[in-house]
Amino acid sequence: MPQSRSYVEISRSQIAENYRKIRDAVGASVQVMGVVKADAYGHGAIEVSRVLCGNGAQWLAVSSVDEGTVLRKSGITVRILVMAGVLPHERASLLEHDLTPVAHSLEEVQALDDLARPLSFHLKIDTGMTRLGTRATVTEIASLMHTLRHARIEGIMSHFASAADFTSEQTEEQIRAFNATVTGLREAGISPPVLHLSSTNAVAYAHPDAWKLLVRPGHAIYGYVSPARGGAPKNLLHVKPVLTWKAKIIVVKDIPAGARVGYGGSFVASHAMRIAVLSAGYADGIPHRLSNRGRVIAAGKLTPILGTVSMDLTTIDVSHAPHLQPGDDVTLLGREGAASLDAQEIAKTAGTISYNVLCGISARVKRIYV
Ligand SMILES: *Cc1c(COP(=O)(O)O)cnc(C)c1O
Repeated sequence: MPQSRSYVEISRSQIAENYRKIRDAVGASVQVMGVVKADAYGHGAIEVSRVLCGNGAQWLAVSSVDEGTVLRKSGITVRILVMAGVLPHERASLLEHDLTPVAHSLEEVQALDDLARPLSFHLKIDTGMTRLGTRATVTEIASLMHTLRHARIEGIMSHFASAADFTSEQTEEQIRAFNATVTGLREAGISPPVLHLSSTNAVAYAHPDAWKLLVRPGHAIYGYVSPARGGAPKNLLHVKPVLTWKAKIIVVKDIPAGARVGYGGSFVASHAMRIAVLSAGYADGIPHRLSNRGRVIAAGKLTPILGTVSMDLTTIDVSHAPHLQPGDDVTLLGREGAASLDAQEIAKTAGTISYNVLCGISARVKRIYV
């Protein structure tokens, strides 16, 4: 048992298995880019990238030049796509570390060309999500592409807003808009080879017409697929969570009926009970919204969080397990025997999304790879 107050165990073999499941689902003609932004959704970008590269990944994706630089400095040599914009002050570092930018406007493409260095970029098209990506017309895009002297368009991409929502037409509309742009550019003599649109949901809920040459899953690599809405096809991806999160008990004590627990005294014991104080709080990433609502697994059984989650501490009911002692581990996310608690269940209780729970596990929680 690791000697840390709060730690996560990350299974390398499960990451590899999830990656292979995604590859099998899309088939050999589609490449699988591993999305490792935000420190691989809290799982550790360097370790996860090593596992993915060891299993044949030829592309990784990050959000920023800084994230790409960290991977380069750790010896990762595969292609790295920077998806969430390259700011002017980051361009020198982009070149230095051989990262591949996604351009979101024609001005940005021009600025990349003005660097006067050979570089490949991907152009993101805003097909209706209205976040990043250019809204320029095919004619405007094509005429700029014909004038480029150093920068080369290697890919065209977009991103879905509602790929798990089968009550909405938005995904079909986005695919149509993307195809129209690609066709228009091809007719204008611009045919970049790498076309891509799909993250986890468009793979899991089979939109094969959106897989193109490459897919960009993140969530599924970490073992999650968001629940679908409406008449979705069956989830193709049988992936499993790769992360287990634990915290140690600091103190155990018996409290009488009427005792008030934690800040604000918002939990009042209705009967005598035994409580344990855990060595993790919202500064470790336990959502404050789990106060008086969330659960953890102690001695193989789901048990409630009592009172408010504090910055470094969380109090739980351990009346069912009198043998628990300071130093024992409690599971915040994971499985103990028949009891399990995953990021999606925690997110639902906390009123957020599983991505937010995973990315919220803070840097001070030790990562252990098994
Ligand atoms: C985060 C992200 C992905 C991966 O999304 P998942 O839902 O985690 O699979 C893919 N593409 C872009 C542009 C992203 O920002």
